[in-house]
Amino acid sequence: MTLLAAVAVGLAVAIVSVAAYVTVRQQMYQNLDDSLIQRAGQAAQKGVLTNLDNLQKASADAFGLSDIRVGVLSATGDKYAPINSPLPPMGDDELQIAQNQGDQASLRTVGVRNGGSHFRVVAVPARFCPVREPCNYDDGLYQPGALVVAQSLGPIDQTLHNLGIVLWAFGLIGVIGAALAGNAVARSGLRPLARLTGAAEHVARTEDLKPIPVAGTDEISRLAMAFNAMLGALAQSRDRQRRLVGDAGHELRTPLTSVRTNLDLLAQADKRGGLRPEDRQQLLDDVRAQMDELTQLIGDLTELARDTPQVRNAELIELSNVVEDAVIKVRRRAPGLDWHVQLTPFPVWGDERLLGRAVTNLLDNAAKYSVPEGTEKRSDGQPVGHVTVRLLDGVLTVTDSGPGIAEADLPHVFDRFYRSSEARSRPGSGLGLAIVKHAAEQHGGMIYARNVPGAGAQFTLWLPHAATQTR
Ligand code: ATP
Ligand code: MG
Repeated sequence: MTLLAAVAVGLAVAIVSVAAYVTVRQQMYQNLDDSLIQRAGQAAQKGVLTNLDNLQKASADAFGLSDIRVGVLSATGDKYAPINSPLPPMGDDELQIAQNQGDQASLRTVGVRNGGSHFRVVAVPARFCPVREPCNYDDGLYQPGALVVAQSLGPIDQTLHNLGIVLWAFGLIGVIGAALAGNAVARSGLRPLARLTGAAEHVARTEDLKPIPVAGTDEISRLAMAFNAMLGALAQSRDRQRRLVGDAGHELRTPLTSVRTNLDLLAQADKRGGLRPEDRQQLLDDVRAQMDELTQLIGDLTELARDTPQVRNAELIELSNVVEDAVIKVRRRAPGLDWHVQLTPFPVWGDERLLGRAVTNLLDNAAKYSVPEGTEKRSDGQPVGHVTVRLLDGVLTVTDSGPGIAEADLPHVFDRFYRSSEARSRPGSGLGLAIVKHAAEQHGGMIYARNVPGAGAQFTLWLPHAATQTR
């Protein structure tokens, strides 16, 4: 900014100064030439100075101007000037005028500036009377010659010199002023940016995601606001990550504790002479089941921690097949339920494993929560509950006949590790629906939950058709 202002003003000042200097110089020379030619012409016409006697008697003082020199140059090259006053410069140009006797005048500059004898010399043709007596028109005494007038250029040089100094001085002041102003503007303009830089460096150094104070509505403030928004998003993401890690640690500890208890039991029993083979088998089966649960939990967690914007192994799949497989699997686990299944084909572009898991989670929940705890079967052989699964135009609805979801829980059921207070006594980690939501979002779909009057909870999963899905 400093350089820019200085260069811009410097250029402007330079152009204006040169233009002013050249114009003034040109004008002064022009005026001088005009007046010199006019005066010399008049003097030559009046014929007073072209008489030798008059010329020699005239002194420079007679003109009231000490910076003017007058002389006569005859065609033969003789030079005459007033007594006591130096000759004006006379050279070839003047001689030519004296010899040619035309009606033009010669004009030239002699000497150099500040050189002492810097003159503008004018010569006009004149008829010269070389004798002391006045010549008559008819006595043939007149000789061709030239009246030469030289004016010192000292005053003009001085004026131009002063003008030059003034222009330089003001130009320099202008450039320095512009540089200072540019510097001040840049400093005050960049101060908020420096503050922002400091804040960003502070965040990078301390990882403290505190927002920075914003004042004003200019571009920098908008940048600061955007920066704050980014910090907010970052803090939220970090919080979520932290919570996930904390919750995951907590959830992983439960099955690990039971595995450990079972193994301790086995070890103690071995010391005391061993368990009965059936009991031992039962204990080992328990451990295996707990390991399976652990594996499942770890799988769920990795699935959720993966934050890819799109599914990775996408392929063309038939959603009705995925739902059908899931129904067969879950049905086997919950034999006491009455299942109504109605499926129509619907192609989707996506990850078959992830979608299968999502549908299974929905069906598992329906099976798990549609019957009161501990009533797996009824004594009279009647089903303990109904589950309706319907796939129509890519909309999968799973409705059960359970108690439904409490209003207070509805907004949270898709959160990680969220379980209603009634559900806590049952097995599970609260990750099931979080995975469903994750899968729906990854496939560009939607999931929502509601209670159906007269039935239980209903989950609706919508997925886009394969043809409309971007690959
Ligand atoms: P997980 O599925 O991880 O084994 P979970 O079933 O408890 O455990 P989610 O599937 O995420 O976890 O369900 C979250 C909560 O939503 C459940 O704890 C339960 O309170 C409620 N919920 C889910 N499905 C139903 C349903 N069909 N009927 C009633 N409540 C439900
Ligand atoms: Mg579940």
